[in-house]
Order: sequence, then C-alpha cells, then structure tokens
Amino acid sequence: MADAEKVVRVRRSLLAWYERNKRDLPWRNSRDPYAIWVSEIMLQQTRVAVVIERFRAFLLRFPTIVSLALAPEQDVLALWSGLGYYRRARMLHKAAQFVAEHMGGRLPRSAGELRLLPGIGSYTAAAIASIAYGEAAAVVDGNVERVLCRLAGWGGGSRAGGAMLKRKISGLADELVDPARPGDFNQALMELGATLCLPRNPQCLVCPLSSDCKTRGEHKRPPRAPMLSCEVAYALSVRTSRKPGKARGAAGREVLLEQRPASASVMPGMWELPRLREAAVPQQELRMTVRHAIMQVNYYVRVRTVFEDDVDALSVRVGERRWVPPAEAAGMALTGLARKVLTRAKLLPIAPLDTIAPQLEADVI
Ligand code: SF4
Repeated sequence: MADAEKVVRVRRSLLAWYERNKRDLPWRNSRDPYAIWVSEIMLQQTRVAVVIERFRAFLLRFPTIVSLALAPEQDVLALWSGLGYYRRARMLHKAAQFVAEHMGGRLPRSAGELRLLPGIGSYTAAAIASIAYGEAAAVVDGNVERVLCRLAGWGGGSRAGGAMLKRKISGLADELVDPARPGDFNQALMELGATLCLPRNPQCLVCPLSSDCKTRGEHKRPPRAPMLSCEVAYALSVRTSRKPGKARGAAGREVLLEQRPASASVMPGMWELPRLREAAVPQQELRMTVRHAIMQVNYYVRVRTVFEDDVDALSVRVGERRWVPPAEAAGMALTGLARKVLTRAKLLPIAPLDTIAPQLEADVI
C-alpha cells in the first residue's frame, strides 16, 4: 500500500463504518483480557450466534482465570459441549492453570509475552493485546486475509500463494493497523470480512473501502470444498432407575452413556451414546434420524431405541459406560451429537444451541 494518505483514508473509512455497523456482542462491552481471550478462542471455527450464549454461560461459571484454573477438566468440557473443537477448551484450561500458578492469575500485557502461553498463537495474542491493552498489534485471521488480498489485488488468499503471500498480508496488516485505536481497527477489519467482504458474495457496493479496493468483487470465487457423507447409528437405551427411593417417571430414568477413551484422537474423554455395530437400522426400530456435520463430513445418524439387555450385543464398547439420570447428563461433557439426540428425545431441556443448523456444528478435537 505504502501511500500514507491511502493508509489514513482506509483507517478512517473503516473505523467510521464500524462505529455505525458493529454488532452488539457481549465481549465487545469488555476490556477484561480474560473475557476477550475466552471469546477469541470460542470464535475460532465457530459461528458468532453459537458463541454468544456459550460465552455468557462460561463466564458465569468461570468468572476469573483462577476459577477456570481450579475447575476439573470435565466441568470445562461440559460448558464447551456443542461448541466443538474441544482441544481449544483443554488448551484454554491448561493455559489458565499456568497463568494461575506462575503469573498470579494475571495475563501478560504484550502480544509477545501472550504468545508464549500454551494455546495462544499470534492471532489470539494480537487480539488480546490490541483490544485489552491498546497495543498496535495487527490481527490476521481468515477474514482479514481475504479482505487484504482483495484490497491489494493479490489473488485468492494465502492458501493459494503460500508463505510469501502470508508475509505480504501480515506486512500490510501491520502497516494498516491504527496505532490510536488498534483494538477497534482489528475488530472492524474482521467485522468487514464477516459481514460484507464475504467469501462468495462480497457486498462491494456498500463497502467503506471500495474506493481503495483493487478488485472490488473482480476476483475468483473460492471453490467449495466437497462434503463427504457417512452413515452411523447409536443406541438410545433408557431404563428405570434401580436406586431405592427414586420416584418413578422422568426423575427416575437413567440413560446409558459411554466415555470416549483418553487415547482417542477425536474428543477424548467426552461422553456419547453407545455406537451400534450396524449403521442400518430396521425401520420399526428407528427412533430418529439426525444430520450432523463434522468438518467436511456430513453424518447421517440413525438412533435406535435399545433395551438394556440387548445393548451389549448390538453395540461396540470403546470405553467406560454409565447409567446416568438425565439431569446429571445435562451437566456432563457430552459430544454435540449426544446432546442433540438426548434433547430431541426430550431427556434434556432444550438449549439455544439445539436450534442451530446441524451443518454448522463441529465436534472435532
Ligand atoms: S470492495 Fe468488495 S472486495 Fe473490496 S474490500 Fe470491499 S467488499 Fe471486499
């Protein structure tokens, strides 16, 4: 870019647009570095609409770094249930423990020091440092890459151009970030990418940067990644509680859950329904079908009601199994799919998350 006037113009236009159009999101009302950290980790790979409720619930349960550090991992995963990519929750938890133990519960104030913490990369470090502490550190995520590539006329994005293009994008972001309002500038650029400069349908006619944009929509559309599909089936096995003194009815029921092994590469330690040996389920046994997407795979899930006596013969055991009252299951670290099935079976209360389009959920570590 190099043209100082142009840099000033881009900053001014973008910030003015942001002031008028920014979405009212709960983490935008905070300068607390911990809250910003949690929001940035949740927002990676997850839609804003999904994050909003989870963010509030998470901060209500873990209002400080120390409270998060002291919590058992299963409690942290339970609050993360449905957000997917559970490795983020584990890393956040570990980093909180490190900060509580070695830094008196306070996050470092510079992007350089933040980057040294487990689970905090350049992007998150720059976001926290710029928003909470006003450091002029440029944030570069997928949205920002796309906006800057289009602005500068650099082709289809960093994936197409490799390391050299990444360096150019990073250099341009450093050049553009407004030293007077770095947090707002970073958020404005991300907001532009999320709401106007969309991957397949950029809204150039109403874009505040259109007069300085080299492409203005004249760019190749990225090809959609092909989705794979896969069929799986799970057992929904419910029994009446055997514990003496339990009331009959919903309060006396228990559902069978299985914990994924700690060595599993995907969602270790999370609880799910027992998986059936056969993906095909006789029509008369079918309780429900569920669509669930994980990364580029569409899962077509059949759920079969299975009697307690039959469940061992029909399913594959991969970990510990427990009969759990639904009220207890609601607070466990369930996979997003297990939570969805139990909710649809009316064993769990409906949460806002269960209304989310299935293809936008992700359950990958
Ligand atoms: S003018 Fe169009 S392509 Fe350029 S930054 Fe704005 S929305 Fe993106």
